[in-house]
Amino acid sequence: MTNLVLPCPGCRSLSRVPEARLADRPVCASCRTRLLGAPVPLDAASFDRVLSATTLPVLVDFWAPWCGPCRTMAPHFDAAAAAFAGRVVFAKVDTEAEPGLAARFQIQGIPTLALFEAGRELRRSSGGRNQAQIAAWLAGGT
Ligand code: ZN
Repeated sequence: MTNLVLPCPGCRSLSRVPEARLADRPVCASCRTRLLGAPVPLDAASFDRVLSATTLPVLVDFWAPWCGPCRTMAPHFDAAAAAFAGRVVFAKVDTEAEPGLAARFQIQGIPTLALFEAGRELRRSSGGRNQAQIAAWLAGGT
């Protein structure tokens, strides 16, 4: 049986979930938050741990509270997170609260979407997107 390692949207700790049980609404072993369907807010303390341990691709939204296009995209990002539950983990980095992460990843404009696998960045793109455009970008579009 294949086990997935998934981060908790509530407390950012990692839980091991058998792939066959993904449809059973798995919850976090620590805080009982549902693991799937909501973006995981990451900070400097959790970023590397979550990115390297998560066994699914991780899509990170680098955003900031003062950014209008970021706020416009947020509900679309949430909806896409639910649509891709069990296939792609969605995460968010508040670049205002985490300037160290923004500098490390040389975030130029926000929102920036960056796709990671096993801790390695595969590609990124900036600019606001709706849910369909996020899905298209994940599928390899621009
Ligand atoms: Zn938790």
